[in-house]
Amino acid sequence: MKKLISLLICLCMSGVAFSQTQVIAHRGFHAKGNSYDNTISSLKNAQELGVYGSEVDIHETSDGVLIAIHGMSHRDIKNVQKATFEQIRNLPLTNGETVPTLDEYLEQAKKSKTTKLIIEIKSHPTPEQELRVVKNILNAVKSYKLRKRVEYIAFSKYVCDALVEYAPKRTQIAYLNGDLTPAQCHELGYTGIDYNVNVLKAHPEWIEQCHNLGMKVNVWTVNDTATLQWFIDKGVDYITTDNPLEANRLLGK
Ligand code: MG
Repeated sequence: MKKLISLLICLCMSGVAFSQTQVIAHRGFHAKGNSYDNTISSLKNAQELGVYGSEVDIHETSDGVLIAIHGMSHRDIKNVQKATFEQIRNLPLTNGETVPTLDEYLEQAKKSKTTKLIIEIKSHPTPEQELRVVKNILNAVKSYKLRKRVEYIAFSKYVCDALVEYAPKRTQIAYLNGDLTPAQCHELGYTGIDYNVNVLKAHPEWIEQCHNLGMKVNVWTVNDTATLQWFIDKGVDYITTDNPLEANRLLGK
Protein backbone atom coordinates (compact mmCIF):
# COMPACT_ATOMS: atom_id res chain seq x y z
CA MET A 1 0.00 0.00 0.00
CA LYS A 2 2.83 2.38 0.95
CA LYS A 3 4.50 1.68 -2.39
CA LEU A 4 1.27 2.46 -4.26
CA ILE A 5 0.80 5.75 -2.41
CA SER A 6 4.44 6.70 -3.09
CA LEU A 7 3.96 5.90 -6.77
CA LEU A 8 0.83 8.06 -6.96
CA ILE A 9 2.62 10.95 -5.23
CA CYS A 10 5.56 10.62 -7.66
CA LEU A 11 3.20 10.63 -10.66
CA CYS A 12 1.42 13.72 -9.35
CA MET A 13 4.69 15.53 -8.70
CA SER A 14 6.03 14.67 -12.16
CA GLY A 15 2.96 16.29 -13.70
CA VAL A 16 1.64 13.13 -15.34
CA ALA A 17 -1.90 13.86 -16.39
CA PHE A 18 -4.59 11.36 -15.44
CA SER A 19 -7.12 12.67 -17.90
CA GLN A 20 -6.98 10.92 -21.23
CA THR A 21 -7.48 12.37 -24.69
CA GLN A 22 -11.03 11.83 -25.91
CA VAL A 23 -12.09 11.00 -29.46
CA ILE A 24 -14.57 12.97 -31.54
CA ALA A 25 -15.77 11.40 -34.79
CA HIS A 26 -15.48 14.08 -37.49
CA ARG A 27 -18.93 14.40 -39.14
CA GLY A 28 -19.86 11.13 -37.41
CA PHE A 29 -18.17 7.76 -37.93
CA HIS A 30 -18.78 7.86 -41.67
CA ALA A 31 -15.91 5.55 -42.66
CA LYS A 32 -17.91 2.56 -41.46
CA GLY A 33 -19.82 0.48 -43.99
CA ASN A 34 -21.97 2.37 -46.45
CA SER A 35 -22.27 5.51 -44.33
CA TYR A 36 -21.72 9.12 -45.43
CA ASP A 37 -20.64 12.15 -43.46
CA ASN A 38 -23.20 14.12 -41.42
CA THR A 39 -25.86 11.42 -41.82
CA ILE A 40 -27.96 9.67 -39.19
CA SER A 41 -26.05 6.45 -39.89
CA SER A 42 -22.71 8.20 -39.23
CA LEU A 43 -24.02 9.46 -35.88
CA LYS A 44 -25.37 6.01 -35.04
CA ASN A 45 -21.98 4.45 -35.88
CA ALA A 46 -20.22 6.93 -33.57
CA GLN A 47 -22.69 6.16 -30.78
CA GLU A 48 -22.17 2.41 -31.23
CA LEU A 49 -18.40 2.91 -31.09
CA GLY A 50 -18.90 4.82 -27.84
CA VAL A 51 -16.63 7.76 -28.65
CA TYR A 52 -16.83 10.95 -26.58
CA GLY A 53 -18.42 12.99 -29.35
CA SER A 54 -19.83 13.02 -32.85
CA GLU A 55 -19.32 16.23 -34.77
CA VAL A 56 -21.92 17.63 -37.19
CA ASP A 57 -22.13 20.70 -39.45
CA ILE A 58 -25.33 22.76 -39.40
CA HIS A 59 -26.51 25.20 -42.10
CA GLU A 60 -29.77 27.10 -42.48
CA THR A 61 -31.61 26.71 -45.81
CA SER A 62 -33.26 29.66 -47.62
CA ASP A 63 -36.60 28.71 -46.04
CA GLY A 64 -35.21 28.54 -42.51
CA VAL A 65 -34.70 24.80 -42.02
CA LEU A 66 -31.59 23.73 -40.09
CA ILE A 67 -29.86 20.86 -41.88
CA ALA A 68 -26.82 18.65 -41.32
CA ILE A 69 -24.44 18.91 -44.25
CA HIS A 70 -20.79 19.83 -44.58
CA GLY A 71 -20.04 21.87 -47.68
CA MET A 72 -21.90 24.68 -49.38
CA SER A 73 -22.70 22.49 -52.40
CA HIS A 74 -24.86 19.39 -52.63
CA ARG A 75 -25.17 17.49 -55.93
CA ASP A 76 -26.09 20.21 -58.48
CA ILE A 77 -26.98 22.77 -55.79
CA LYS A 78 -24.11 25.26 -55.52
CA ASN A 79 -25.15 26.93 -52.27
CA VAL A 80 -27.30 25.01 -49.80
CA GLN A 81 -27.98 28.21 -47.83
CA LYS A 82 -29.70 29.65 -50.94
CA ALA A 83 -31.74 26.51 -51.69
CA THR A 84 -34.98 25.40 -50.11
CA PHE A 85 -35.13 22.40 -47.82
CA GLU A 86 -37.29 20.52 -50.34
CA GLN A 87 -34.76 21.08 -53.14
CA ILE A 88 -32.01 19.64 -50.94
CA ARG A 89 -34.08 16.80 -49.52
CA ASN A 90 -35.12 15.67 -53.00
CA LEU A 91 -31.50 14.92 -53.86
CA PRO A 92 -30.27 11.91 -51.85
CA LEU A 93 -26.64 11.43 -50.89
CA THR A 94 -24.59 8.86 -52.79
CA ASN A 95 -25.24 6.19 -50.13
CA GLY A 96 -29.02 6.61 -50.51
CA GLU A 97 -29.64 8.56 -47.28
CA THR A 98 -31.23 11.99 -47.43
CA VAL A 99 -29.73 15.14 -45.89
CA PRO A 100 -31.03 15.14 -42.30
CA THR A 101 -32.60 18.02 -40.44
CA LEU A 102 -31.19 19.18 -37.10
CA ASP A 103 -34.36 17.80 -35.47
CA GLU A 104 -33.71 14.35 -36.92
CA TYR A 105 -30.13 14.58 -35.72
CA LEU A 106 -31.19 15.54 -32.20
CA GLU A 107 -33.73 12.72 -32.17
CA GLN A 108 -30.89 10.26 -32.83
CA ALA A 109 -28.52 12.08 -30.44
CA LYS A 110 -31.04 11.53 -27.66
CA LYS A 111 -30.63 7.77 -28.02
CA SER A 112 -27.11 7.81 -26.57
CA LYS A 113 -26.38 8.92 -23.04
CA THR A 114 -22.63 8.77 -23.58
CA THR A 115 -21.77 10.19 -27.00
CA LYS A 116 -22.12 13.97 -27.08
CA LEU A 117 -23.13 15.91 -30.15
CA ILE A 118 -20.54 18.51 -31.18
CA ILE A 119 -22.47 21.01 -33.28
CA GLU A 120 -20.45 23.10 -35.71
CA ILE A 121 -22.55 26.15 -36.49
CA LYS A 122 -21.57 27.13 -40.01
CA SER A 123 -20.92 30.75 -40.97
CA HIS A 124 -23.81 32.59 -42.66
CA PRO A 125 -23.72 35.85 -44.66
CA THR A 126 -25.01 38.36 -42.09
CA PRO A 127 -24.75 38.80 -38.30
CA GLU A 128 -28.58 38.88 -38.15
CA GLN A 129 -28.81 35.47 -39.79
CA GLU A 130 -26.04 34.04 -37.62
CA LEU A 131 -27.81 35.28 -34.50
CA ARG A 132 -31.09 33.69 -35.67
CA VAL A 133 -29.33 30.40 -36.45
CA VAL A 134 -27.64 30.38 -33.01
CA LYS A 135 -30.93 31.08 -31.21
CA ASN A 136 -32.85 28.48 -33.24
CA ILE A 137 -30.21 25.82 -32.61
CA LEU A 138 -30.15 26.58 -28.86
CA ASN A 139 -33.96 26.38 -28.75
CA ALA A 140 -34.00 23.07 -30.63
CA VAL A 141 -31.37 21.57 -28.30
CA LYS A 142 -33.34 22.81 -25.30
CA SER A 143 -36.59 21.32 -26.60
CA TYR A 144 -34.93 17.89 -26.90
CA LYS A 145 -33.54 18.33 -23.36
CA LEU A 146 -30.04 17.81 -24.68
CA ARG A 147 -28.37 20.93 -23.29
CA LYS A 148 -25.86 18.93 -21.24
CA ARG A 149 -25.03 16.60 -24.10
CA VAL A 150 -24.31 19.19 -26.80
CA GLU A 151 -21.18 21.28 -27.29
CA TYR A 152 -20.62 24.00 -29.89
CA ILE A 153 -17.85 24.98 -32.28
CA ALA A 154 -17.70 27.71 -34.94
CA PHE A 155 -15.30 29.53 -37.27
CA SER A 156 -17.35 32.70 -36.94
CA LYS A 157 -16.32 34.82 -33.98
CA TYR A 158 -19.75 36.40 -34.10
CA VAL A 159 -21.37 32.97 -33.67
CA CYS A 160 -19.09 32.15 -30.71
CA ASP A 161 -19.85 35.54 -29.12
CA ALA A 162 -23.60 34.96 -29.57
CA LEU A 163 -23.23 31.53 -27.94
CA VAL A 164 -21.42 33.10 -24.98
CA GLU A 165 -24.32 35.54 -24.65
CA TYR A 166 -27.29 33.23 -25.17
CA ALA A 167 -26.26 29.64 -24.34
CA PRO A 168 -26.84 28.33 -20.80
CA LYS A 169 -23.99 28.72 -18.30
CA ARG A 170 -21.22 26.11 -18.54
CA THR A 171 -21.98 25.38 -22.21
CA GLN A 172 -18.81 24.34 -24.02
CA ILE A 173 -17.95 26.80 -26.81
CA ALA A 174 -14.77 26.39 -28.86
CA TYR A 175 -13.43 28.66 -31.58
CA LEU A 176 -12.22 27.04 -34.81
CA ASN A 177 -10.53 29.76 -36.81
CA GLY A 178 -7.04 29.50 -35.31
CA ASP A 179 -6.27 33.24 -35.29
CA LEU A 180 -6.79 33.97 -31.58
CA THR A 181 -4.48 33.06 -28.71
CA PRO A 182 -5.84 31.06 -25.76
CA ALA A 183 -5.74 34.25 -23.66
CA GLN A 184 -7.84 36.12 -26.23
CA CYS A 185 -10.37 33.25 -26.41
CA HIS A 186 -10.52 33.13 -22.62
CA GLU A 187 -11.13 36.87 -22.46
CA LEU A 188 -14.07 36.44 -24.87
CA GLY A 189 -15.63 33.74 -22.68
CA TYR A 190 -14.93 30.77 -24.97
CA THR A 191 -14.31 27.54 -23.08
CA GLY A 192 -11.83 26.09 -25.54
CA ILE A 193 -9.97 26.20 -28.81
CA ASP A 194 -10.61 23.73 -31.61
CA TYR A 195 -7.76 24.39 -34.01
CA ASN A 196 -6.44 22.90 -37.21
CA VAL A 197 -3.58 20.43 -36.82
CA ASN A 198 -1.11 22.82 -38.52
CA VAL A 199 -2.01 25.73 -36.22
CA LEU A 200 -1.40 23.64 -33.11
CA LYS A 201 1.78 22.10 -34.54
CA ALA A 202 3.04 25.67 -35.01
CA HIS A 203 1.88 26.68 -31.51
CA PRO A 204 2.19 23.61 -29.27
CA GLU A 205 2.60 26.02 -26.32
CA TRP A 206 -1.08 26.95 -26.73
CA ILE A 207 -2.03 23.53 -25.33
CA GLU A 208 -0.48 24.24 -21.94
CA GLN A 209 -1.64 27.86 -22.03
CA CYS A 210 -5.22 26.66 -22.49
CA HIS A 211 -4.93 24.19 -19.64
CA ASN A 212 -3.49 26.87 -17.36
CA LEU A 213 -6.54 29.00 -18.18
CA GLY A 214 -8.90 26.09 -17.47
CA MET A 215 -9.76 25.73 -21.15
CA LYS A 216 -10.05 22.63 -23.35
CA VAL A 217 -8.02 21.88 -26.48
CA ASN A 218 -9.45 20.09 -29.49
CA VAL A 219 -7.51 19.49 -32.73
CA TRP A 220 -8.86 18.77 -36.24
CA THR A 221 -8.69 16.76 -38.41
CA VAL A 222 -6.10 14.18 -37.37
CA ASN A 223 -6.20 10.88 -39.23
CA ASP A 224 -2.71 9.35 -39.47
CA THR A 225 -1.16 7.27 -36.72
CA ALA A 226 1.96 9.40 -36.15
CA THR A 227 0.03 12.67 -35.79
CA LEU A 228 -2.65 11.07 -33.61
CA GLN A 229 0.10 9.81 -31.29
CA TRP A 230 1.86 13.24 -31.32
CA PHE A 231 -1.29 14.97 -30.06
CA ILE A 232 -2.07 12.23 -27.53
CA ASP A 233 1.46 12.69 -26.15
CA LYS A 234 0.92 16.46 -26.03
CA GLY A 235 -2.12 15.89 -23.84
CA VAL A 236 -4.84 17.54 -25.93
CA ASP A 237 -8.31 17.00 -24.51
CA TYR A 238 -9.99 15.99 -27.77
CA ILE A 239 -8.92 14.77 -31.19
CA THR A 240 -11.40 15.19 -34.02
CA THR A 241 -10.78 12.44 -36.55
CA ASP A 242 -12.17 10.59 -39.55
CA ASN A 243 -10.35 7.57 -38.14
CA PRO A 244 -11.81 6.98 -34.67
CA LEU A 245 -10.85 3.29 -34.72
CA GLU A 246 -7.13 4.11 -34.95
CA ALA A 247 -7.44 6.85 -32.32
CA ASN A 248 -9.17 4.37 -30.00
CA ARG A 249 -6.49 1.74 -30.66
CA LEU A 250 -3.69 4.17 -29.74
CA LEU A 251 -5.57 5.11 -26.59
CA GLY A 252 -5.92 1.45 -25.65
CA LYS A 253 -9.68 1.45 -26.05
MG1 MG B 1 -17.25 20.53 -39.20
